[in-house]
Amino acid sequence: MTELKPMKILVPVKRVVDYNVKVRVKADKLGVDIANVKMSMNPFDEIAVEEAVRLKEAGKAAEVIVVSCGVPQCQETLRTAMAIGADRGILVETDVDLQPLGVAKLLKALFKKEKPDLVIMGKQAIDDDANQTGQMLAALLDRPQATFASKILIEEGSAVVTREVDGGLETLKLILPAIITTDLRLNEPRYVTLPNIMKAKKKQLDIIKPADLAVDVTPRLSVVQVSDPPARKAGIKVPDVATLVSKLKTEAKVI
Ligand code: AMP
Repeated sequence: MTELKPMKILVPVKRVVDYNVKVRVKADKLGVDIANVKMSMNPFDEIAVEEAVRLKEAGKAAEVIVVSCGVPQCQETLRTAMAIGADRGILVETDVDLQPLGVAKLLKALFKKEKPDLVIMGKQAIDDDANQTGQMLAALLDRPQATFASKILIEEGSAVVTREVDGGLETLKLILPAIITTDLRLNEPRYVTLPNIMKAKKKQLDIIKPADLAVDVTPRLSVVQVSDPPARKAGIKVPDVATLVSKLKTEAKVI
């Protein structure tokens, strides 16, 4: 068997409201309140970092670079990714409320600079549920994409990706460099250990601005309204099955 040339992998990671937090809509109904709320790495991005690190551990990747775009606190997200095992991080720092197209343009510019063989990213960010950035990046770069990956195999010059589709699986072969987005079942990310958190503090983290990449990240769309899901009515307790059946018949009229 011929040895594969180890790849360079770029993994974009987004800092989002932790999935355990119950968010509250702000009074102006233009977003959710994220002041004093726990923030974490987007869970699908954690899966992407884990996959890239596993490819490195298997000798298929030489370097894993993580990138986050946003406020200075995204450095924490990058440090977590480096504690999982990424080699270095890049923060594209901006206070602008980034939208998928802006992020995709920043990632395109970084792709041109870093020349990775593979980009592995989340299928969607759990805060805005956009599910757009990976697809936009692939289109801007004119490179192959496989979304919702549940298995990734690397061959010479290509990636074989299994995707979860309605009622089954689809397997695609992509010519590298390519963009892959992760689904939940791709892997189970490891817990970061204290020694690895300490080691991650010493890893290289470069901070740049969108202007350094000559990218305009001005938002193209504005949020009109965010609203809570309709409140559920309180349930009732019934003493026995007979009462339940009777209420379903006479009150709820569903049987
Ligand atoms: P979205 O299109 O917003 O649902 O996000 C899909 C994926 O794009 C995420 O899982 C991340 O991998 C990446 N991404 C989105 N926004 C950012 C960001 N601000 N910084 C880094 N990566 C991002």
